[in-house]
Amino acid sequence: MSDVWKVLAGNLAAVALVVSVWTHFSYRFYRIPATWRSAGLGLTLGLAATASMMLAVPFDVGVIFDLRLAIIESAAVFGGPGPALVAAMMAAGFRIYLGGAGVIPGLIAIAIVLLIGTSLWFLAGRKPLSQAPSILSAALLLGALSIAVLGLLPQADFQRAIDQVGVPILVLNFAATAAIGFSLAYFRRFTLERDILHAALTQAPDYHYVKDLEHRFVVANLNVARHNGRAKSSEMVGLTDFDLTPKERAKQLHDSEAVVLRTGQALRDFEELLVEDGQAPRWYSTSKVPLRNRQGEMVGLAGVTVDVTEKKLLEQELRSSRNMMAQAMAEMSDGLAMFGPDARIVFCNDQYRKIFPRSAYARREGAHITDIIRAAVRNGERQDLPIDLDEDSIRAAGATLFVNKDEVISMTDGRWLSLRTRVTEDKHVLALVSDITAIKESELSLKSFAERMKGLAETDALTGLANRRSFDDGLQKQFDLAKASGRPLSVLLIDVDRFKAYNDRYGHLAGDACLRSIAGAITTAVRRGSDIAARFGGEEFAVVLPDTDARSAIAIAEKIREAVRGLDTMHEGSEHGIITASIGATVFTSDSRVNGVSELVGRADLALYQAKNAGRDRVGFQRLGDERTAKPG
Ligand code: GH3
Ligand code: MG
Ligand code: MG
Repeated sequence: MSDVWKVLAGNLAAVALVVSVWTHFSYRFYRIPATWRSAGLGLTLGLAATASMMLAVPFDVGVIFDLRLAIIESAAVFGGPGPALVAAMMAAGFRIYLGGAGVIPGLIAIAIVLLIGTSLWFLAGRKPLSQAPSILSAALLLGALSIAVLGLLPQADFQRAIDQVGVPILVLNFAATAAIGFSLAYFRRFTLERDILHAALTQAPDYHYVKDLEHRFVVANLNVARHNGRAKSSEMVGLTDFDLTPKERAKQLHDSEAVVLRTGQALRDFEELLVEDGQAPRWYSTSKVPLRNRQGEMVGLAGVTVDVTEKKLLEQELRSSRNMMAQAMAEMSDGLAMFGPDARIVFCNDQYRKIFPRSAYARREGAHITDIIRAAVRNGERQDLPIDLDEDSIRAAGATLFVNKDEVISMTDGRWLSLRTRVTEDKHVLALVSDITAIKESELSLKSFAERMKGLAETDALTGLANRRSFDDGLQKQFDLAKASGRPLSVLLIDVDRFKAYNDRYGHLAGDACLRSIAGAITTAVRRGSDIAARFGGEEFAVVLPDTDARSAIAIAEKIREAVRGLDTMHEGSEHGIITASIGATVFTSDSRVNGVSELVGRADLALYQAKNAGRDRVGFQRLGDERTAKPG
C-alpha cells in the first residue's frame, strides 16, 4: 500500500518537474507565437504523461495506474483543445506501445477525460481556468473521474482496485491537477505583468529608467536606449552615465542622483536646457524617485525625463506677449481700465488714475464701478456728476458700464475727457479715457473764429451795422415772409445831406466819424430785434422794418431824422448848419402788386428824392403802385 503512495508521489514529482521546465522555457522564449506555445504545452504535458506511465504502479499484468488522466485534463482546462489533443495522442500512443490487457480501458479513459476536459474549456468561455475555486473544482472532478474510469475494468478487478489503489489515485490525481493548474495560472499572471511592464517601458513616449545604487542602468526603455545610440533596451543594462555621456555631464547626473539616494528625497520636475550635437537646444523635465525594498532599504532610483520643449516655448511666447501688452498699456498716453463681469476693475494703467486725480485713490484693481463713481461725485470731479448726486443715481450711472458708449466728459478743473467703453463677448468692459482738452479748446476757438468771420462777412467795417449783402439777404427773407403772412413790410432809405461838402470842409476822417455817429443814431431809433439797420453804400443807410405799416414806418423815419439832428454835428456847408439826413420810406402790404424787392428799394429811393427835393432834412413817403407822388427829380 505505501508503495502505491510512494510511486504515485514520485510520479507527481516527475510531472511537476516537467511542468516547471516548461514554464522556464516558456519564460525564456516568450517571443514565440501563441500557436507554437500551445503546441509546446501539449508536447510538454504529453511528455509528462509518458513519464508518468513509465513510473506507473503495476496492478495486474498489463494494467497500470499513473497520473496521465490528470495531465490530459490539465492540458484541456488550462491550455485548451490543442494542447489537450497533443498530450492525449502522445499518452495514447505510449499506452498502446506498452500494450497489455489494460490498453483498451486505458484508451477509453483517455478519450473520456479528453472529451470532458475540452467541454470544460468551452464551458469556461475558451479561457484557461485561473481562479483558485475553479482550479480546485477541476481537480476534484478529475479525482472523481479517475475513480470512475476504474469501472472500465472487469467487475472483480474494479473492487480490488478500489480497495488497493482507490484513495492514492484519487488524492494524487487531484493533487497533480491542482499543482499543474496553480503553477500555470501563477506563471500566466506573472508573464502578463511582465509583458505590461515591458510594453510600458519600451513603448512609453518619455524616457524611463531604473538605476541601482551604483548608478548603473537596471532597466531603461527604448527611448533611453535609442537616445544613447543603442538599438535595444537590454544594451543599456549595466551601463552608467560615464559610459554614455562626456565626463562633465555624467558627473553632474551622478551627483544629482547621489543626493536622491543619500537623502531619500525625490528630485521633482527639474528642468534643464540641453544641447545635443548639431541640434537645436531642447528643454527636458526630469523627476527621480528613490526606490526601496520591502524592508525599507534604498535599492536604487527610478527616473522619468520628459521633453517639454514645446510647452516651454509656448510658455515663453505667452510670457513675452504678456510683457509686451503690459508695457504697451503702461506706456500709452491714454487711460485704460478693464472691468470684469462683476463691474470690478481687473486691470488699469497709471494714466487711468492720473487722468482722474481727485478719484484716483478709488481706481484700483478690485474696485467696484459704483465706488469709483461715488469717489468722483464726492470730490466734485465731473461737471455731469453734481456733488449732491444721490445713491440711486450713482448706482444707475454704474449700471451703464455695460453699454458701449463714446462720451465727452467735462471736468470741473476745465479739462475735457473722451470716454469710450466697449463690452467684450465675455462680458468684460474696456474703458479708454483720453484727455481731449487741447482738441476741445481748439474746436471751441475755431467755432468762435468761424462766428467772428461770419459776423465780419455780414457787418460793415466802418459803422458796425449790417452790410449791403446782409441787408439784401435780410430784405429778401422778410419780403418772402410778408408775402406769405400778408403782414406789412416797410423799408427806409437814409441819405446824409450835403455830405460831399462835409468831406470837403472837414476832411474824410471826420466824414467817417460822422458816418459812425449817424449809424449810432439810427440804431437808437430802430430797437426791434427783427429790424435790420444797414449801411446801404457810401453815406446812405437802409432800414428794413418787418410787420410795420406806413404810419409806424414814417414815425420811425422821423425818429431817425430827429436822432441825426440830435447829434448836433456842425456842418457849415449845409443850409441847416448841422448834419441832417433825408429819408425815403415805403411800405409793402398785402394789396401791393410787386414782383421783387428791387421794386421796394426803388420806391424808397423815389421817396428819398422827394425828400431831397422838398428841402432835405425830412421824410418822404411813397406808396407802392401809387404813381401820383412818384416824381423823381
Ligand atoms: P445831397 O445828398 O444832400 O444831395 O448831397 P451830397 O453831397 O450828400 O451828395 P452825394 O450824395 O452825391 O454825395 C455823396 C458824398 O458822400 C460823396 C463822398 O464824398 C461822400 N462819401 C461817400 N461815402 C463816404 C465815406 O465812406 N466816407 C466819407 N468820409 N465820405 C463818403
Ligand atoms: Mg448820396
Ligand atoms: Mg447825400
